Amino acid sequence: MNAPLRVQVPGAGYHQKLVSCQQACPVHTDARGYVRAIAEGDYERAYLIARGPNPFASMCGRICAAPCEAACRRGQIPVLDEAGAFVANDKPIAIRALKRFVCDRFGPEARPATDVLADLRAHVPSACADAEEMAALLRASVAGQFVPADGQRVAIVGAGPAGLSAAHDLALLGLRPVVFEQESVAAGMLAVGVPAYRLPREVIRREVAVIEALGVEMRCGVRVGTDVSFAELRRDFAAVILAVGAKSSRSVGLPGERGPRVLGGVDLLRAVSLGEPLDLGREVVVIGGGNVAYDVARSVVRQIAWDAARTAARVVRGGKVHLVSLETLEEMPADTLEIREGDEEGIERLNGWGPVEIRRGDDGRVEGVSFRRCSRVYDENRRFAPLFDDAVKLELRADTVVLAVGQAPQLDFLGDGGADVEQFRPGWPKSDEQTRMTTAPGVFVAGDLAHGTRLLIDAVASGKAVARSVYRHLTGRDLRPDATTAHLEQERYRREPGYEALRRTPIPTLEPHERLAHPEAVVEIGYDETAARREASRCLDCGVTPVFDSMRCVLCGGCADVCPTACLKLVPLDAILDGEGVAAAAARTLGLDGAAPADLPEGSAILKDEDRCIRCALCAMRCPVDAIAMERVCIDTTWRTA
Ligand SMILES: Cc1cc2nc3c(=O)[nH]c(=O)nc-3n(C[C@H](O)[C@H](O)[C@H](O)COP(=O)(O)OP(=O)(O)OC[C@H]3O[C@@H](n4cnc5c(N)ncnc54)[C@H](O)[C@@H]3O)c2cc1C
Repeated sequence: MNAPLRVQVPGAGYHQKLVSCQQACPVHTDARGYVRAIAEGDYERAYLIARGPNPFASMCGRICAAPCEAACRRGQIPVLDEAGAFVANDKPIAIRALKRFVCDRFGPEARPATDVLADLRAHVPSACADAEEMAALLRASVAGQFVPADGQRVAIVGAGPAGLSAAHDLALLGLRPVVFEQESVAAGMLAVGVPAYRLPREVIRREVAVIEALGVEMRCGVRVGTDVSFAELRRDFAAVILAVGAKSSRSVGLPGERGPRVLGGVDLLRAVSLGEPLDLGREVVVIGGGNVAYDVARSVVRQIAWDAARTAARVVRGGKVHLVSLETLEEMPADTLEIREGDEEGIERLNGWGPVEIRRGDDGRVEGVSFRRCSRVYDENRRFAPLFDDAVKLELRADTVVLAVGQAPQLDFLGDGGADVEQFRPGWPKSDEQTRMTTAPGVFVAGDLAHGTRLLIDAVASGKAVARSVYRHLTGRDLRPDATTAHLEQERYRREPGYEALRRTPIPTLEPHERLAHPEAVVEIGYDETAARREASRCLDCGVTPVFDSMRCVLCGGCADVCPTACLKLVPLDAILDGEGVAAAAARTLGLDGAAPADLPEGSAILKDEDRCIRCALCAMRCPVDAIAMERVCIDTTWRTA
């Protein structure tokens, strides 16, 4: 039996939701907008669209986990073979790599921070007709639609993506942010966690310089709780934002875990990032199956290869890195790409094992790790509920063990001055869901500390939201977005020839031996211009949609006939309005239950399967009476004070 049809009449907000990449992005970047601009060869406009809402556009172009790609409709379009049989779903547009392509050309990687900022100030508002926060803020401040704050100072603890995004937007809103960072470098986990072979340090430095050029004061190497007290910040600043992330490695509680040569994953990555000396020995076991475990294992592989090259393999010949995860290969939380590249680089992956003990010799040195078989990780409700088989054991030799099993925040730096910051669990402050203000007046939280460990782009979104909240708190004025939606008809809308048949262009990477030649050799080479335009031209342009004029339509059915994905159907009106209910009637009318379609009565409706429409515009071209227009939905947002 066929599944029942679900028929929905488009209402307010319907067309915005179809732009699934923009909907999925926590800062609502108009990914479709910049991908289409790349397809048209307008790279500078593409950069401005990508940068508008996101002060971390360049870093995102390198490492964003890209929720936009997971939502991209192209990834759900079926690929058929020549006989019309289903082969597989197509792959999403490589949105992240395309973002990198334009950032490489117009971002701070390519020119001084002041030039980037001048360009943003001058052109962002006109480049972006769609919802663009920076554009809207700049435009609104110029037009006097919101009252800028009067320069009160706001302290931000932590220069990670949450703290710096908050600082960026606070500066635009007319406040004076001062960022306190305990490390010698800014950018949080991106600078002291994410390895340089994924995110070059120069890209970080340059993108942070743009934020500084906005007037943000950065105080690196200053630990709140040691060099300055939290109580002093509360006394000297109008508001305080805590954006300290989750930097403590979680422990497992294994016998032998405490002592030398057992490290937390983020501690090891920090040492590698800051160039601190590491004595790991020849055999390293990494426990964990997520992306952080891969960052650790791949960093260690590079360290071993580099040491071997420098010391003519005297010390570390035969070095080995095991990555051991509870999960099966299919269940591992790490990205498929990380797993594949890790395999290529020689990481020995072992799936389905739970650690039992870290073995130490009489002198306390780590000798190895004992594991038992993990027969199940999740229960039938997908809850973490591992089961073990003690009879099946695995013994691995190890000189060093790294635990990459999650991170947690620490709030001990608050001291007595933070006694009124209530915590719902040790390290996790209570905060209002809307305002993110803690139980202490004027103290806010952002990023991983506010929502738990997530993605870089979630931290950016959280920092931006808290900046607005602080503005409201300090000025007493509400700052709200006013969105106007316009449907603009696209005259003679045409797609690139053959775009529907193009498959995703692989992102070029270094060969495994080249990657290991230097620990900081950047793995992903990125697209050249030809590849970028080809890949961008695959975008389905979901912001454009065929709109039907019922007054002109002569019910010829030509649009349905010409549609290459059979996404249009002409349906008798009474069939979808009769008493049997929309779904059953439409299914019967479409012949899905084997019944022949009834003769079309005078009143008819056009049904469109949004999942299948590839915006080719053939229906509009075929229509003999110009009843179909390709329309682009534009959302223009202005921030106003109320
Ligand atoms: C190893 C690793 C790899 C990752 N890779 C990716 C990836 O590829 N893609 C992706 O989307 N996400 C990735 N993430 C997640 C992403 O990095 C985080 O979600 C993001 O950094 C959180 O931002 P944040 O600003 O909340 O905290 P953080 O980035 O942790 O920044 C917090 C900052 O506060 C500082 N701080 C803490 N206490 C004090 C104090 N008392 N005084 C002064 N400063 C203080 C810290 O030093 C730190 O710099 C990764 C995370 C890790 C750990």
